[in-house]
Amino acid sequence: MTTNVAPRTIYADNAATTRLSERAFESMLPFMLEDFGNPSQPYAFSRSTKRAVRSAREAVARCINAEPDEIFFTSGGTESDNWAIKGFALRDASQKVLTTSEIEHHAVLNSIDAMRVIGHRTHLLPVDSDGTLDLSAVERVDFGDNGLMSLMFANNEIGTLQPVKQTCDIAHDRGAYFHTDAVQAVGHVPIDVKDLGVDMLSASAHKFNGPRGIGFLYVKNGTPLSSYASGGAQEMGKRAGTENTAAIVGLATALEQNCGKMSETAARLRDLEDELLSQLDAAHLDFRRNGTNQLPGLLSLSFCNASGEMMLHRLDLMKICVSTGSACDGANTQISHVLKAIGLEDDYALGTIRISLGRDSTSDDVSRIAASIIKIHSK
Ligand code: PLP
Repeated sequence: MTTNVAPRTIYADNAATTRLSERAFESMLPFMLEDFGNPSQPYAFSRSTKRAVRSAREAVARCINAEPDEIFFTSGGTESDNWAIKGFALRDASQKVLTTSEIEHHAVLNSIDAMRVIGHRTHLLPVDSDGTLDLSAVERVDFGDNGLMSLMFANNEIGTLQPVKQTCDIAHDRGAYFHTDAVQAVGHVPIDVKDLGVDMLSASAHKFNGPRGIGFLYVKNGTPLSSYASGGAQEMGKRAGTENTAAIVGLATALEQNCGKMSETAARLRDLEDELLSQLDAAHLDFRRNGTNQLPGLLSLSFCNASGEMMLHRLDLMKICVSTGSACDGANTQISHVLKAIGLEDDYALGTIRISLGRDSTSDDVSRIAASIIKIHSK
């Protein structure tokens, strides 16, 4: 008698979201059932939640070398990006110059576009074929005296790490402020806000094994920014609303955990990337890897004359989760704005999948992913 054991699901879409770490989950539990007090209340019962939010803010600050009063908890990356851009543009009635790259996440692109519609000046700067920002284009921008440059730390579709420090220096030389959407990078690559010199930085917990629906915006002291939500005095009067204590604690636990093992995890992911690429190479498939200097574990692969969407569905039937463009564009079969911006030919662009390995990924996973892709292309 033969028994068919269904293969377990391989999750290779960590750029879309990650599995909550057990340690983060456990750190959240007391604040859901027992310590549920509102941190703003003065009685003794709320002291533990107040203390927990304070120590989470301190832990996050330590992980990126910021001051605790520069960390503002938000609902995630989208809110942090919206706040950085709209809070900068709408702080007074003057016209601002808002500049970004063509390959940003839509949380940045659409926020900047919303500001253009109401009269602010905006610029979208080009990237090269690897998705790296053209620094000479930044040099040519006239930021006036009310400028903001926003550049993502790492691209969510192709993984390219951007020249953040150099771009920030150029923006500052021209009197502009600098924001980076570091949603894909925080918890995965070292980030020191003081060394980089950035004025604002967006992050989201569910990208670094924390809970969904919580993130933060780093705002360097002295950066001109209006409050995001009006109401109570939470988040130093800048972002009203009762704190989600459990999620804040989970975010800090996950970030500390990831930062403590960052180089070890990155080295392991690089090895897994090499294994995957060499197995695909050995099968003589016609494919390219997009980007350069990519985030650890992120592989954007374009297969000639294939359909990325078809590959995604075939892999899904084989219990393997990958993405075509970015997850946020998941329902969209059009060539993504990122692949268009890097000038990838349609023959390759339409056959693009994003495999994003994470800290749970194994060598066996990679072999099964490679074998499945080879099988799809052999028919
Ligand atoms: N910015 C980047 C680069 C992202 O990859 C994402 C999510 O995929 C976001 C912003 C939005 O983050 P969130 O899902 O936490 O709103």
